[in-house]
Amino acid sequence: MDQAIVIAVDGPAAAGKGTLSRRLASLYGLKYLDTGRLYRGVAWMMLEKGLNPRDEDAACTIARAFDPEALDTAELRTGEVGKAASHVAVHPGVRQALFEFQRAFGATPPGAVLDGRDIGTVIFPDATVKLFVTASVEERARRRFEELRLQDPNLTLATVEGDLRRRDERDQSREEAPLKPAPEAELIDTSKLNPEEVLGRASRFVDQALSRREMA
Ligand code: C5P
Repeated sequence: MDQAIVIAVDGPAAAGKGTLSRRLASLYGLKYLDTGRLYRGVAWMMLEKGLNPRDEDAACTIARAFDPEALDTAELRTGEVGKAASHVAVHPGVRQALFEFQRAFGATPPGAVLDGRDIGTVIFPDATVKLFVTASVEERARRRFEELRLQDPNLTLATVEGDLRRRDERDQSREEAPLKPAPEAELIDTSKLNPEEVLGRASRFVDQALSRREMA
């Protein structure tokens, strides 16, 4: 990994990973990659073509031809695409197809903050620092509901919470790269913290890791 600094931020949906990761990237002068966007991109392309995200062969074909840099649509953030993303993400061939892009992105100096589900466990087991960001399912559902209701006024909190629980279950129970903290990951529960407090805790962990790295 040479000189690149890699900050791995993993955790379940709507735990606050994106907000934290963007802030960390700006604080430490690093690039930022939202890896969920890659899976959402593959899922979105499948839905556009009328393909079923559970169709492994079709998903792998799309993922291998996928250009993350050409991805430019506001539709990636919908609940439907998030759900479809968690279906395409179970296919090992899809994960393999997206692996190199993530590695190259993080390993290029000065390095990057990557957020996702398997950054500290699979993509960068050698990350400079690993954070696992979580929050209660009720709090995450409330946050995601506030975000999604702007697009869909008929949405209910109960629907959002049910979808989140099913997505957590799929992400945690899949065989390939399941969502789980790396053994050495620092845990941050954001349920009762504001974004400033989350950044404060995370940056203390990053500072400690950077000084350990300097002394090594
Ligand atoms: O983080 P986001 O909600 O955008 O991710 C959408 C879905 O993509 C997740 O529910 C998960 O199934 C999948 N994903 C993954 N590995 C990552 C990032 C996202 O499996 N590193």
